[in-house]
Amino acid sequence: MLQTTIARESVAEGIGLHTGVYGHIGLRPAPADTGIVFRRVDLDNFTIEAHGQNVARVSYATSLMKQGVLLSTTEHLLAAIYSCGIDNIFIDIDSIEIPILDGSAEPFMAMLAHSGVRKLRRKRRYLKVVKPFELVEGDRRVGIYPSERFEVDCYVDFTHPLVGRQQIAIAVAPDTFRSCLARARTFCFEREIEPLRAMGLIRGGSLENAIVLTSDGVMNGPLRFADEFGRHKALDLIGDLALAGLPLLARVEAHKAGHSLHTQLVSRLLADPSLWSITTAAGEGSHEGDAIRDADHEPAREGEFPLHLKPNPAFAAD
Ligand SMILES: [Zn+2]
Repeated sequence: MLQTTIARESVAEGIGLHTGVYGHIGLRPAPADTGIVFRRVDLDNFTIEAHGQNVARVSYATSLMKQGVLLSTTEHLLAAIYSCGIDNIFIDIDSIEIPILDGSAEPFMAMLAHSGVRKLRRKRRYLKVVKPFELVEGDRRVGIYPSERFEVDCYVDFTHPLVGRQQIAIAVAPDTFRSCLARARTFCFEREIEPLRAMGLIRGGSLENAIVLTSDGVMNGPLRFADEFGRHKALDLIGDLALAGLPLLARVEAHKAGHSLHTQLVSRLLADPSLWSITTAAGEGSHEGDAIRDADHEPAREGEFPLHLKPNPAFAAD
């Protein structure tokens, strides 16, 4: 299996969910063994690798920090890139937060579909988990277990008539991610909005980029899936697992977990080399990461402009 990058660039722009800062992102091809690397083009192309060693504070979103330079809300974009089997890519950004767009990974999948896949002449390296490892915090837990492919199993339980218990288990591949998870949007509870705003969060939040749950329903329906919440949590989990820095051969279970437990799992895994090995041999049943559908490989037409995604209008904070 060969490493991949994207074939051509794509761009998007929009507001950051938590900071409310407007930013532009550009996906650009990168050479073999680069990995997934953010470049702050507003700071002399300062690079921040999508890697567990750069995880910063993690609460309602996953933020990376390196030498004091912060980048927030990386998880939805990383989930799309990682699920599509893109090993090497530069993500150029001119602000402190990845645009939230519609709150799902679908706009990023559209960018990747536009960008296409290019194989590189270097073997892909996998991080193959060889021993189970678990983290428990009260009734929340995450665990990672040996598997010949990359699978996630995500369980959520929120006391709400539209949520309750939801469980999503999938083998992660471009097609399964696209059809099952990519469209699931981020969500919050109406009662959380004021406390979150008081904490300086969700300054860019709006009914255009997050599902808002009222006490007994949803403020801005319809839902895209009856179990959109569980699906979004699985999307978040995959985006955080991308911080392993290499494609995983492992099964990951998350039980009422969140960004904090997800990223702790990655950091603790990387810190203990007895739990994994690096291999260039994908196991039986593993998905080819470059199996993006043929339609995604269509060459750009002459004079075609890069895909341009319109920002979502945010409603003004009180
Ligand atoms: Zn999310």
